[in-house]
Amino acid sequence: MLHDGLTHELRELADWQRELREQFPIITGHPELVYLDSAATSQKPRAVLAAAQTYLTTANANAGRGTYPWANGTTAMVERTRQRVKVFLGDPAPERSGVHFTSGTTEGLRAVARDWLADQLTDGDEIIVPFADHQANLEPWLETQRLLEQRGITVRLRALPYQTASGDYDHRALTGMVNPRTRFVAATHIHHVYGGDMNVHRIREAVGPDVPICLDAAQSVGHRPVSVGELDVDFVVFSGHKALALPGSGSVWARNARGPQFRPGGWHGTPNTVGIATLEAALDWLDAAGTGRIARWTTALTARFTDRLRHLTSYEILGCQAGLAADSPVQRRHGIVTFRHHDIPSDDLGFILFSHGFMVRADSLCQAGADPRDGAVRISLHVYNTAKEVDCLLSVLGSLD
Ligand code: PMP
Repeated sequence: MLHDGLTHELRELADWQRELREQFPIITGHPELVYLDSAATSQKPRAVLAAAQTYLTTANANAGRGTYPWANGTTAMVERTRQRVKVFLGDPAPERSGVHFTSGTTEGLRAVARDWLADQLTDGDEIIVPFADHQANLEPWLETQRLLEQRGITVRLRALPYQTASGDYDHRALTGMVNPRTRFVAATHIHHVYGGDMNVHRIREAVGPDVPICLDAAQSVGHRPVSVGELDVDFVVFSGHKALALPGSGSVWARNARGPQFRPGGWHGTPNTVGIATLEAALDWLDAAGTGRIARWTTALTARFTDRLRHLTSYEILGCQAGLAADSPVQRRHGIVTFRHHDIPSDDLGFILFSHGFMVRADSLCQAGADPRDGAVRISLHVYNTAKEVDCLLSVLGSLD
């Protein structure tokens, strides 16, 4: 019994989705294949491909150097995109915040750790970081701890607590950990393995109004509405390539309200100008399509998938709780579902699925602390995926049940 509301949602959005799907040449050009790995990287609509072509054939130059029109135009485009990121993130105080372009989330989180956090901490301070999210959201904080140790400053890294059944953070336990030495929290918006919303507003409630929060938004920006005003966090870090732009166009958005301004250190070399040009086009495309509708579409598809998969007894869905409907708020997944077959190793299952044309992720998913031998299969969706694709995948999975 797939909840009528969600079936209704898919029907209501079907025409809108069909028109958008047509704008992805790699999707329409390969009708025999089904791309189900958008959490790793997204496919690009024609408008984004055109932005790269237009920029490189009409205005390519370096940014912040040179005074001739192409160079000035590139500098202006980079500045415009900075403002575009703020608008896209619903920034309530854009005159105070900053946007720093990076190669992606990994480098962005490292910049926050190295160029901002390291200078805020003194001996005996504590920071709370996620030990079971993406590796990219753990390594930088460990590096900072090591760096400070070399300077004779001991910082305690405490593990953000989880509820084991759902993979969600345990906000009550977090409240009990906060003390006057708590200086910083790193968290994730949408989990890259479980697809759950990590309820960041509850982290703010738990830590109080003064502790800076850095959010890994790699799986939310470009997939659903993200409002920095509502989230009340201090850093939002994302990868342009997961948000329909080209690789190398990530951003760090810094609120610059709690603690000193974020000023990425060192000499700034040539930015990825063409990547940034595509980020501007991608954000325009996403706003025109409607990130709210994109999220409704992918959430309805994931509910359709989990609701049927959980009745196939050979499979375990990671983070899925028995006895809860697929559309209950705890169970809801945002475009990402990860599962295992009880008898078929996950890498084998990945190969079997590809023999039917499905491109999925099948490994340990870069999850911090995961045993590399302990793989799983992840499907992740974007606006170009369809209910028919989900149903075909379920029929293959069903034949292996
Ligand atoms: N954080 C999360 C939650 C992710 O899903 C990813 C990419 N899989 C990253 C960080 C790293 O992103 P990038 O490789 O673009 O730096």
